[in-house]
Amino acid sequence: MRIRGLGRLKRTTRRVRNQFAPGGLVLLYHRVAEVSSDPFNLCVTPRHFAEHLEVLKKHTHPVPLQQLVKTSQEGNSPNWSVAITFDDGYADNLYNAKPLLEKYEIPATVFVATGNLEHEREFWWDELDRLLLQPGKLPQILRLNINGSNYEWDLGEAAEYSEDTYQRNCTWSWGDPEEADPSPRQSLYRELYLLLRPLPLDECQKLLEQLRIWSGADSTNRSTHRSLSPEEVSTLEQGSLVEVGAHTINHPFLSSLSLPQQKYELQQSKTCLEEILEHPVNTFAYPYGDYVSETTTLAREVGFVCACSTYPKKVRRNPDYFEFPRFGVEDWDGEEFAKQLSRWLYHLA
Ligand SMILES: [Zn+2]
Repeated sequence: MRIRGLGRLKRTTRRVRNQFAPGGLVLLYHRVAEVSSDPFNLCVTPRHFAEHLEVLKKHTHPVPLQQLVKTSQEGNSPNWSVAITFDDGYADNLYNAKPLLEKYEIPATVFVATGNLEHEREFWWDELDRLLLQPGKLPQILRLNINGSNYEWDLGEAAEYSEDTYQRNCTWSWGDPEEADPSPRQSLYRELYLLLRPLPLDECQKLLEQLRIWSGADSTNRSTHRSLSPEEVSTLEQGSLVEVGAHTINHPFLSSLSLPQQKYELQQSKTCLEEILEHPVNTFAYPYGDYVSETTTLAREVGFVCACSTYPKKVRRNPDYFEFPRFGVEDWDGEEFAKQLSRWLYHLA
């Protein structure tokens, strides 16, 4: 028997159900570590990370990123599914995050910027922290020529930076409003970060070298801030709970590069990881979440199945696989993390 209007009712019910279905989430982490100065809130402490995993285990369905992609591709909304991702490839992903992921049997994808794999050097934003925000004395005046323009900064009394002042200011983070900069050192960090970020890596490294000389700091890199080595990238994947994805070679601001340069960064980081891991590398994340629409085409062309952005949105059926949304996670305790998770799952479109 055919009941008139039933088809329409079913369609409406499906539409309403989809509208209120929780959908899935991709979480963006960087580091599981305890450091005293963390201007970009990149670190989640091991204790808090364990609490996050406990919440995820209890209330969601943790899945590998590629499974989330597959579920959406099959036309299903990945309800309650949550995929964990890490950006950059810090060594603590292996030593601090992986044992906890294993304890809770929760999968994750680590996006590695391959340019640091063979180097002891810190990422440039960490080196800026080491040179400018640590206790000690700096020259009062800094003069730099950046991209053809001359800049001068006066640190005033903040040229002297005692352990006490450092301890008072070390919780400062980039996200604070500008008027909250506790000293000219944080303002200098903020301005230099924005000036250096769009530069090619060799330009950025030249300026860092000038800053090293100016500051009188030695060039010893902090072991707490190092990246994975090629051997550690392989070790990270052992046990098949962690998958490695690409994150370019030099971690550039992709929109500041020509398309051939962008393609090189995407392709070469993929190839480099595939040589280390001896299997195809299928996933990618845009450094800084920065890209232009042509970059998404390039990501598809070089053979990735998805590319993650930093656009905070839920995953429903048939999302844009080359602008895959992610929610950034901060160093919240389990209770705060659970609140955020429920806000993301229930209250956002
Ligand atoms: Zn990154």
